[in-house]
Amino acid sequence: MTTHAVTLIRGDGTGPELAAVTREVLDATGVSFAWDVVDAGVDVMKTAGTPLPDDVLASLRKNKVGIKAPITTPVGTGFRSVNVALRKELDLYACVRPCRTFAGIKSALHRDMDVVIVRENTEDLYAGIEFERGKQDTQGLVALLGEYRPANRLGDDVGISIKPISIAGSRRVVRFAFEYARLHGRRKVTAVHKANIMKYSDGLFLEVAREVASGYPDIEFDDRIVDNMCMQIVQRPLDYDVLVLPNLYGDIMSDLCAALVGGLGVAPGGNVGDECALFEAVHGSAPKYAGQNKVNPTAMILSGVMLLDYLGEAEAAQRLHQAVAAVVAAGEEVTYDLRPGRASEGAVGTREMGAAIIRAMGA
Ligand code: NAD
Repeated sequence: MTTHAVTLIRGDGTGPELAAVTREVLDATGVSFAWDVVDAGVDVMKTAGTPLPDDVLASLRKNKVGIKAPITTPVGTGFRSVNVALRKELDLYACVRPCRTFAGIKSALHRDMDVVIVRENTEDLYAGIEFERGKQDTQGLVALLGEYRPANRLGDDVGISIKPISIAGSRRVVRFAFEYARLHGRRKVTAVHKANIMKYSDGLFLEVAREVASGYPDIEFDDRIVDNMCMQIVQRPLDYDVLVLPNLYGDIMSDLCAALVGGLGVAPGGNVGDECALFEAVHGSAPKYAGQNKVNPTAMILSGVMLLDYLGEAEAAQRLHQAVAAVVAAGEEVTYDLRPGRASEGAVGTREMGAAIIRAMGA
């Protein structure tokens, strides 16, 4: 039996609880893991002086595959996002987020939704090229832009975030979406953009998407403007299959689609590059529930299903997926967010739901 060396990042907030349960469930599949457990986030910041200690990246670079619990990013001030840093450092350019309705989820707004989001992960407004209001370099940039675009002269009170989108960055993520579609028997890829307004960034993304699509005649291709896409996915989700989006729209559309299939508690994901992959739930660290054994482990466990698939453990992946589906469909041993009216009454905790999934696997 192959033993898979996998990095497990425990995260912060509710992260450590979710990581512990997910590890137990993955071990219970019978697949052999050599876990390399590392810490990142606000908790380790106090001792390590950084939210992303060197051993985290070193472990991922060595193992080339990992699973990560959520990590807090302070709003406005403090450190930049560890999540974004990991994706950039490891060049995990494609973020894959399957949004599929499980039977029995009362909060799902659509019964038969089955859409896969492929979000570009390294460019766009997340590239981190930011200019703070009032700083010298910001004033210099404002002056430079004034020279190039005198008609659009900016005031001295602006903060600026730059949105770079490249041919190479767009090409590789759109190719990834088409390859994913082929591999998983999907019929259509839809490119999502705002090319009518941002002609030279989103416009470039769309142009490249059309060029890449011409190399995949077996897969249907179309495109949608992002605001229209938001309405369409709510009204007619069955018309869509694989969506490929620049970073920001992909981020927003992921939460929208998660809501349609029953909430963040059931939305898994994976960040994939040519060399390395890191699996994680769509949701964040839900810090207000930290230490309460309350939040839903399903999203991270389903990210574990994606990890198993990536490792070539297809049979274990399917078994675990079916066990999750069975527990969710029974609706008894589930966390509060999957109970009617999101009521805590009758709900079980994170650990108990994990244990129910292990039992459903017959482990
Ligand atoms: P969040 O996803 O942490 O929580 C929003 C709400 O969704 C929660 O209050 C809860 O009601 C619900 N929720 C989330 N996860 C759940 C689960 N597993 N089970 C049941 N309900 C769940 O979003 P937020 O409050 O905007 O972000 C909190 C922090 O997490 C922020 O610092 C944010 O930057 C960070 N974040 C991290 C990641 C990541 O690690 N990849 C992703 C998104 C947000």
